[in-house]
Amino acid sequence: MFIDIKDLAVRKVRVHRDYPSGTLDFQSADFRQIEPVEVRATAELVDNQIRITGSLQTKVELVCARCLELLVEDINRDFDLFYRPMTELPGEQEAHLSSDETELGFFEGEGLFLADVLVEQVSLAIPMKIICRSDCRGLCPHCGANLNHEGCRCHMHPTDPRFEPLARLKQDWLKKQ
Ligand SMILES: [Zn+2]
Ligand SMILES: [Zn+2]
Repeated sequence: MFIDIKDLAVRKVRVHRDYPSGTLDFQSADFRQIEPVEVRATAELVDNQIRITGSLQTKVELVCARCLELLVEDINRDFDLFYRPMTELPGEQEAHLSSDETELGFFEGEGLFLADVLVEQVSLAIPMKIICRSDCRGLCPHCGANLNHEGCRCHMHPTDPRFEPLARLKQDWLKKQ
């Protein structure tokens, strides 16, 4: 859906629609959209800027940073965004945009695509580090066992390098018996 400033000049545009999986291009391998992105939003023209307010919700599948298992995360995000026409901004001013102005974007030409707005908003809503549960025990760094499901044997048989020759001797001895 294209949000056109010519339409906004006449009246506000209200949007309520679903974007099924695959219709938004997230260009990210970190998560997978598994339910439609449902968006309710209002777009209007405010002082020559496009203001988009609303909310979105969806579900994404992510990988636990500790145990690497898949988990599903609910994504809910409210937004209140302003987009300035690209031409309005003098080049000099551009350098002074500080990080607290991240909710301010730009549009080129006659408007912007709602899909681009949603891709950005969903991506921003994805937590930086996902853990399947607060007490996830992760993977054993030695044998790779998922410690949530299985006890690994590394702790029961600590491989102290000093005992390795002894252990080998014992194995050889056992083999000869
Ligand atoms: Zn986990
Ligand atoms: Zn282990």
